[in-house]
Amino acid sequence: MATLAETTMQFAQLEHPAPTNWETRDRILADPGFGTNFSDHMVSIDWTEGVGWHDATIGPRQPIALDPACAVLHYAQEIFEGLKAYAQADGGIALFRPEANAARFNNSARRLAMPELPEDVFVESVRQLVRADRDWIPTAEGSSLYLRPFMFASEVFLGVRPAKSYKYLVIASPAGYYFKSGAPAVSIWVSRYSRAAPGGTGAAKCGGNYAASLVPQAEAIEHGHDQVVFLDAVENKWVEELGGMNLYFVFDDGTLLTPSLTGTILPGITRASLLSLARDEGLSVREERYSLDQWREDARSGRLVECFACGTAAVVTPVGTVAGDDGEFTIGSGGPGQLTSKLKDRLVAIQRGTAPDPHGWVMQLG
Ligand SMILES: *Cc1c(COP(=O)(O)O)cnc(C)c1O
Repeated sequence: MATLAETTMQFAQLEHPAPTNWETRDRILADPGFGTNFSDHMVSIDWTEGVGWHDATIGPRQPIALDPACAVLHYAQEIFEGLKAYAQADGGIALFRPEANAARFNNSARRLAMPELPEDVFVESVRQLVRADRDWIPTAEGSSLYLRPFMFASEVFLGVRPAKSYKYLVIASPAGYYFKSGAPAVSIWVSRYSRAAPGGTGAAKCGGNYAASLVPQAEAIEHGHDQVVFLDAVENKWVEELGGMNLYFVFDDGTLLTPSLTGTILPGITRASLLSLARDEGLSVREERYSLDQWREDARSGRLVECFACGTAAVVTPVGTVAGDDGEFTIGSGGPGQLTSKLKDRLVAIQRGTAPDPHGWVMQLG
């Protein structure tokens, strides 16, 4: 089990004057949706040049006033994370690899010229919020409390340079299934737009990447598909990832492939966890580049039998069909494949505490 060294930062506890009544909360938890309902509390920590991190508080979730010249509103100096608190089979609560989110948050911070947050403070901030909002964790299958730590440039300044003050916040949102259609597999659209270029911010979890992916995503929907997949920006040939999920390919000889982390792909924690779980099963997993042409050819020849996307929000989602300007192809049966389902079940069982945790990924909060 993961452990946490005592953090040095003290969190001031602000009483909530009027928490949501339990009838309303239970109604929300019965059908939480994704990203539209929020818990009662939030964490806030400020950073100021020359002072460092200060004024850590856990208190009521409420609007924040921003000056119109607040730097983030102009140059998008912002990063975020996404992780979940899971109700455990034994009635407890657990986080999944929160130190990995903390480390990635700091990688993103470095790329966006922002201050790093000590990893123990990141993890403690998430624990504080889950503790305050423990009654907001839905328990139904596939549901969890989605946690969103984020940081933005809060300095009132219009010049182009790293800001001298930042705000770090954590909010929480009870979450059900990410794809509300409940479809057995998603269909994806190959975009002609690029998500990330070499030397850019593709490996950082920053809002700007998502802003740039909205037009391609809307185009996918317009063409009748669920999600967009991006190719590399240089040759427009190599499959990278979806707007917010990494990809895996499963072949008829039982091997797996996931695109290698070239600097333009976001290093997903779900991706990394599945890599370990697949290798635990004795499967061979290659981290290599894979072209759209090969993808199409392998799907048509039957060499490719399954394909899935993975990420914290949607966990593991089978990819059924792929379409683009040069036509459409279906993978396997077009529905969830055997290995996809098996790996998903293995991961979810560890997250839920119904299977052993050989890698020490689960942090129990009691
Ligand atoms: C967050 C994210 C992922 C998935 O990462 P997880 O750690 O597995 O949630 C994949 N791609 C992009 C672009 C992301 O922002």
